[in-house]
Amino acid sequence: MKQLIKPVFQNEKNIICAFSTKEGASDKSPYEQEAVFQMLQMNHLPKVYPKQVHGNHVALIKKDSSFHMNQGNLILPDTDGMVTNQKQLVLTTVHADCLAVFFYDPIQHVIGLVHAGWRGSAQKIAEKAAILMINEFQSNPSDIKVFISPGISSCCFETGVEVFDAFQKSFSWASDYAEKKGDKYFLDLKKINERQLMELGIKDITIDPDCTCCHSDLYCSYRKEPGTTKRMGALMVMV
Ligand SMILES: [Zn+2]
Repeated sequence: MKQLIKPVFQNEKNIICAFSTKEGASDKSPYEQEAVFQMLQMNHLPKVYPKQVHGNHVALIKKDSSFHMNQGNLILPDTDGMVTNQKQLVLTTVHADCLAVFFYDPIQHVIGLVHAGWRGSAQKIAEKAAILMINEFQSNPSDIKVFISPGISSCCFETGVEVFDAFQKSFSWASDYAEKKGDKYFLDLKKINERQLMELGIKDITIDPDCTCCHSDLYCSYRKEPGTTKRMGALMVMV
């Protein structure tokens, strides 16, 4: 049987979240949005589409935010993450090896979603999203639940010294999550994102163990298939 999505935060009643697989991807659109939206019963809801640039801008979407809607959807330029307290508004990101980090505060009713590749991770995009939740919506770090999606893992994320250096500039503890082999470094992006959130006091963090590069049958992997236009979608909405 085809697996179109991986469920995320499955036991939460007030949110619907998923990470779509390669089965849900197509070369035309980033992924088979209609099939995935239909499965999750999200067709009729407005969506937020960030124009991802591997940066660290996290958009804050409040009730009174004056964003320009395009055909009922919100298109955000130069954005790799979103935080909102709005119900019935679907946050989306797309991925091919890069991580999706999902945030949920069931007490203050706030959700967040970020696209974290190595550049975003080194620029602390997950930390930025969490700080927005804490500062703008009074989220208590101990109430925030986090899910880190399938993504390229330390088994496959081989980099040169310049990438390792970028992490060392941002995090004093970066070398804890880097394994040096010859002149290459194998970095653990999932653990690096987890650690930056733990440093803020967030404890409830789930990491999906799947490596997208090892399992390119199930997931889109830019490293395994360079130039691929296929993407997996991360989706999150409060209902
Ligand atoms: Zn791997």
